[in-house]
Amino acid sequence: MYYIGVDLGGTNIAVGLVTREGSIVNKRSVPTGADRPFEEIFADMGKCTLALLDENGILADEVDCVGIGTPGTVDPDQGVLLYANNFKYGRNVPMRGLMQQYINKPVYLGNDANAAALGEVIAGAAKGVKNAVMVTLGTGVGGGIVIDGRVYEGQYSAAGEFGHIVLICGGEPCSCGRKGCWEAYASATALVRQTKEAMESHPESLMHRIVKEAGKVSGRTAFDAARQGDAAGQQVVDRYIFYIAEGLLDLINIFRPEVLIIGGGICNEGERLLNPLRAYLRANSYGEGLLPEQRLEVAKLGNDAGIIGAALMHA
Ligand SMILES: [Zn+2]
Repeated sequence: MYYIGVDLGGTNIAVGLVTREGSIVNKRSVPTGADRPFEEIFADMGKCTLALLDENGILADEVDCVGIGTPGTVDPDQGVLLYANNFKYGRNVPMRGLMQQYINKPVYLGNDANAAALGEVIAGAAKGVKNAVMVTLGTGVGGGIVIDGRVYEGQYSAAGEFGHIVLICGGEPCSCGRKGCWEAYASATALVRQTKEAMESHPESLMHRIVKEAGKVSGRTAFDAARQGDAAGQQVVDRYIFYIAEGLLDLINIFRPEVLIIGGGICNEGERLLNPLRAYLRANSYGEGLLPEQRLEVAKLGNDAGIIGAALMHA
């Protein structure tokens, strides 16, 4: 039997043919065109799925089910996307029914970040463990929870919104309407803001030259400056790592996962990010010295995690 996993992204729809063990036999993708009506988007998704089966000589009889990982909040029982703020179509989309017009199989819906966490547990950074938590540090901060090898979805697949736990009461405003959310301190967007603030108060910093050459402030600016010994850049990096670590410690205290997975472009900083993070977690974990050290790993599978996780959500 094969499982079809769909990662419905803002830019591309990726469809994969997945085995029960979690390997991708083959995959295809098609541009999402997120500002189109959802009927058109799902027509492309359906055709892409059929083409994938055809290309690999797989009959519909050999497919167990289809899983779709989508941004937003879903009603998994009804097979409906309730709300996704980054798609124009946004509300009450009958995703299951739309997909079943193309392939008449059970279709399951789940949140994309939850699916990615499951994918990393099945075949990636947390392979072989039962309990893991994944945090993605991107434009926002997202995440997923895996307990006993299954995604903990919560009501409407909306659990794991780690970006909106509050780190600093009354702190920086957040896109969700509250203040002081973790996302407002630990996302790549927040790092850019922190870098700009540091540049204003440190006209002598190397960051100015780096930005001039690169053309803009990015999540790399402060890390690049720190690498070259710039004190202001190092301060930004240290502070940012402190923000990430404090949030991770909260997650450790709630879930005590066997592995904590972090993803997002910032992970490209490698040991410069990971070493101080691990040291901070080690020094500040509850029960330090009594419990085994927390494993912190970088997500391995990229977009494939979402495909694998979506395919096997209900396997
Ligand atoms: Zn928030």
